[in-house]
Amino acid sequence: MKLKTLAAASTAWLAALALLTASGFTLSATYMTREVTCLFNIVREVRSITQLEVHLLSHERESARVALAHLPEHVGARDAARRELSRWLEDAREQPVTAESASVFEEAEREIERYLATHTQEHRQAGASHDEVDRTFAALERLLATRLAEARIARQRVDEVHRLSEIVSLGAAGMLLAGVLLALWQLRRCVYRPLLSIRAAIDRYGAGSHDARAPQGGLDELREIAVAFNEMAAALAEQRKRQLGILASVAHDLRNPLAALKLTVDGLRPDRPLPHEERLRSMLTRIGKEAARCDRMLTDLMDIARIEGGELELRRETRDARELARDVVELYRPTATAHELGLSLPDEPVPLCCDPIRIEQVLNNLVANAIKYSPAGGAVQVTVARVGAEVSIAVSDRGVGIAADDQRRLFERYFRAPSSSGVAPGVGLGLWAALRIAEAHGGRIEVTSTAGRGSTFTLRLPS
Ligand code: ADP
Repeated sequence: MKLKTLAAASTAWLAALALLTASGFTLSATYMTREVTCLFNIVREVRSITQLEVHLLSHERESARVALAHLPEHVGARDAARRELSRWLEDAREQPVTAESASVFEEAEREIERYLATHTQEHRQAGASHDEVDRTFAALERLLATRLAEARIARQRVDEVHRLSEIVSLGAAGMLLAGVLLALWQLRRCVYRPLLSIRAAIDRYGAGSHDARAPQGGLDELREIAVAFNEMAAALAEQRKRQLGILASVAHDLRNPLAALKLTVDGLRPDRPLPHEERLRSMLTRIGKEAARCDRMLTDLMDIARIEGGELELRRETRDARELARDVVELYRPTATAHELGLSLPDEPVPLCCDPIRIEQVLNNLVANAIKYSPAGGAVQVTVARVGAEVSIAVSDRGVGIAADDQRRLFERYFRAPSSSGVAPGVGLGLWAALRIAEAHGGRIEVTSTAGRGSTFTLRLPS
């Protein structure tokens, strides 16, 4: 899972939950407000109905008193009660009436109107009046009962909505808690733990444990980081292995000239008489050669380091390519006594604008390889020629050769063909450096080889 997906899913989930909860609360609040308003109206109406009953009774009592003794105060009280009754009728018509109570209300209204109509005359007929009062009371009681029943129902609905709101709130809180716990668990599983593992692997690697690798788990991004770290660690381990190999190889290669030096110097110990002049000269020449060989090996190593660091600097001058080839062959002739070194040069000078030290380094490598990878007695031929605007210097041998598949990889860093790696020590950097030098001159190195029959490496440079 990607970090983006996790964040989007959590946000969407929280937003949906918040939206649902808010809509639920808004709906229940609206519903409750409506029901409470309805209850409030019913309570007001119940109060006014009971007051109306009181006014009706007052009106009846004062009417009876007026009938007995026509005193002005009784007339005033009766008229006030009558006005209250009329006012209630006016008010009641303004009140909202539910569908259920509409017929009951109309009946009560009719009964009061009839009552008021029969009591407009100053004198009343006592027998008829009692029936009207009873009917009016009965109608008002029915209205009261209907409204109270409605109030009870409204109250029940409010209770239900309240219960529902409580359930919704608890559910929302539960879902929110579950969501947060789920998000925390996912974060811990997919982010926190993998991050800690990567951190631990980096710490272990930093502390020197080069086989430390990060577990590849969690979010895609963290898995990619772990994979990148593991690849980097593996590449560094490989590089380290190669560097150790180079060191071992250099030490091995240096041991031979150093052993030769030691042996020669042993013959010149101060406690022994000096050998004849001729022998002495030969020994000094050998010392010079071995010292030069050590020097060349170290210079090659430094060059490789320079090329790797992108610091290859050419000091160009025009030289005869024949001279360069001759110098290299002559350099190897005294040591490669087991091989036949041949040199084929054109009669005319072959001018070449190049850095002679670097080109000699390339030729040294090609000739050294030809000797290294040929059996004793094998011929090594160096041929200089001018081909159009190019100068070519070919080094041929009749050695182990290189399989077709391996030829493609010869110039890769650290590559060694399996067919020849057992034949002689090496680190697979010489051809890589040689090609870099040739390319820096605008040239190239071509290879033709047959496994078991020999190889030809041709350096081609613009003249
Ligand atoms: P090194 O000789 O130190 O291994 P190089 O870069 O000079 O490194 O050569 C790379 C590889 O190419 C060698 O290890 C060997 O396998 C192959 N190679 C180079 N020259 C020859 C040759 N003349 N004959 C056979 N194989 C060769």
